[in-house]
Amino acid sequence: MKIIDVHAHINRAFYKEDFLNVLKRAKENQIGFINIGTNLADSKENVEIAQSFDHVWAIVGMHPTEKEDFNYDTFRELAMQEKVVGIGECGLDYFREENKTLEDKERQRRVFGEQIKLAKEVNKPLMLHLRMSESYEEAISLIESLDNLPPVVFHFYSGNMEQTKRIMALKNAYVSIGGVITFTHDYDKVIKEIPLKRILLETDSPFITPVPYRGQRNEPTFVVEVLKRLAVLKEMPIDETADVILSTTKHIFGLK
Ligand SMILES: [Zn+2]
Repeated sequence: MKIIDVHAHINRAFYKEDFLNVLKRAKENQIGFINIGTNLADSKENVEIAQSFDHVWAIVGMHPTEKEDFNYDTFRELAMQEKVVGIGECGLDYFREENKTLEDKERQRRVFGEQIKLAKEVNKPLMLHLRMSESYEEAISLIESLDNLPPVVFHFYSGNMEQTKRIMALKNAYVSIGGVITFTHDYDKVIKEIPLKRILLETDSPFITPVPYRGQRNEPTFVVEVLKRLAVLKEMPIDETADVILSTTKHIFGLK
């Protein structure tokens, strides 16, 4: 394995039966990936897929905008399964109008809190989904106030410079960078400030397809485009950049 895409959604809902071809192409290109849960159904499916393929792992949990109830015991059982390497994607998302109400924010905080508790209990990393600066402020303050957390990964990292400094001051926090850096310079400055050892790679497939595949459905194989752009930003050779990130990824998620 050369690269591990730490955030993808490769399941039947998004890919129909073609998900098997997507899996195969990743393997042929020496790319592994972590399939991320957004609700109970896709979390269960992710565990099944991960247990059937060497180059796939699963993270189970509930997305902040998912309205389903979070059943702690059911998720705990899933979280303890083989090949499950984390909890999420969980967090706070105040982007849409319906998610800006006090009532919905309270719901999100509660479900996020349950998943933090679960991550601590099973001692597996948290895969965070935060959207809007306000949710970053809130989540960073919360994490700063907690002790003995497992590693925390900020998926689709979009924090500002000040938030980045606070995250880097945390002992066990990492950011995951995706295809967006291939088509906007918005994140360049912040990324240059983050040590390579704190950076992971993702695609967020089937979304956020990188250049030169814009307009197509995304898949883990395209993560190499994110790597190439990151190497440019870090002014480092591509292979060396990949090696550093792979060893961080394996370390955080305990992958072999
Ligand atoms: Zn996602």
